[in-house]
Amino acid sequence: MTDALSHRIADSRDDLVALTCELIRVPTRNPPGENYRAICELLETRLRRTGFDCQLIRATGAPGDTDAFPRWNIVSRREGRRPGPCLHFNGHTDVVTVGEGWTRDPFGAAVEGDRIYGRGACDMKGGLAAAIVAAEAFIATYPDFAGAIEISGTADEESGGYGGVAHLAREGWFAPGRVDHVIIPEPLGKDRICLGHRGAWWAEIETRGEIAHGSMPFLGDCAVRHMGAVIAAFEAELFPSLAARRTDMPVIPDGARAGTLNINALHGGAPERAPDDTALPACNVPDRCVMQIDRRVLVEEGVDAAAEEIAALLDRLKATRPGFDYALREINRVIPSMTDPDAPVVTTLQGAIADTLGAEAAFVASPGSYDQKHIDRIGTLKNCVAYGPGILELAHKPDEWIGITDMLDSARVMGRVMERLLLP
Ligand SMILES: [Zn+2]
Repeated sequence: MTDALSHRIADSRDDLVALTCELIRVPTRNPPGENYRAICELLETRLRRTGFDCQLIRATGAPGDTDAFPRWNIVSRREGRRPGPCLHFNGHTDVVTVGEGWTRDPFGAAVEGDRIYGRGACDMKGGLAAAIVAAEAFIATYPDFAGAIEISGTADEESGGYGGVAHLAREGWFAPGRVDHVIIPEPLGKDRICLGHRGAWWAEIETRGEIAHGSMPFLGDCAVRHMGAVIAAFEAELFPSLAARRTDMPVIPDGARAGTLNINALHGGAPERAPDDTALPACNVPDRCVMQIDRRVLVEEGVDAAAEEIAALLDRLKATRPGFDYALREINRVIPSMTDPDAPVVTTLQGAIADTLGAEAAFVASPGSYDQKHIDRIGTLKNCVAYGPGILELAHKPDEWIGITDMLDSARVMGRVMERLLLP
């Protein structure tokens, strides 16, 4: 990287810290999805300074969008002086709930040594600030650059992204030809490139029985026992089979390099008793039991096959277990997304990490998902990765923090990416 850009980014340390703190101090908790308009306006004021055209876009009608909690997004674009590719940085502006265990003000943005503390510091306001500072430094160093730089701040990533990137993708903002390269500065670490994520299939399984007096259970049919048979089949067949399916996706941590299934919830029969409840329960054979499952899906499996596998298991029980009947309802599906390691955004980042940090970039994939799914499926743009500063394990934890040196290093890498893509 040229010394001019590197020095300019190093000199912007205080500004980067100030911007990160400003972003953290806007409490954009999701749910309910608050202060989206305020953080978009903060970004707009900031980005207009360097000549970005900004548009604020509300995802009207998206899940969760109400007049009390409107889903606002910002897309900003800075044209270069000649034709060339468009490089887009996308950061989600929402943060998860605070939770217990904080020793600092979650929205106070305390700066202590090399760390900035706050909810959203690493996931991912620090990454968004690093991309902004990198772009500003690049524009100041190379006013004649080719192509365009876009920076978006989007809502609702933590709740599926339907009021954010999914909405923008549906409206064509990520169409190939409009945008060429997308980097999402999620906290994956400054020397790692995240190629994608596993998919997910969430569903509800309901078993049915027949209500009867609890003293004569043989006169009814217990839906919870039927669900027990489902769990037994999971243990005997499904869990061992899932664990044996190893993916070529570089998913971290290693335990997630297989298909997984979590039982999110299980409800059947009488409601749970409150600790202060002095009433005795009524004696009934439960006629309904409902399980919520979260199946994480490998790119080699596909979501349809994962869903069909569960349905087939339930059908086998129906054919062999007397009285067994079920209903299966899909709650949500997320496609697995995996960008080709030879895609231009990947090889450019690899080169930029080598140039800037002298390190060989590691490829990773996320066990959960992030907004890449929408850019891939709805936007049909395959040239997208996550790359940004921060320690993934700190996301959603109490006393979340971002390292200032890490932000500066990843800003230099992003600056180098711009040099490689937007200079003739
Ligand atoms: Zn995130």
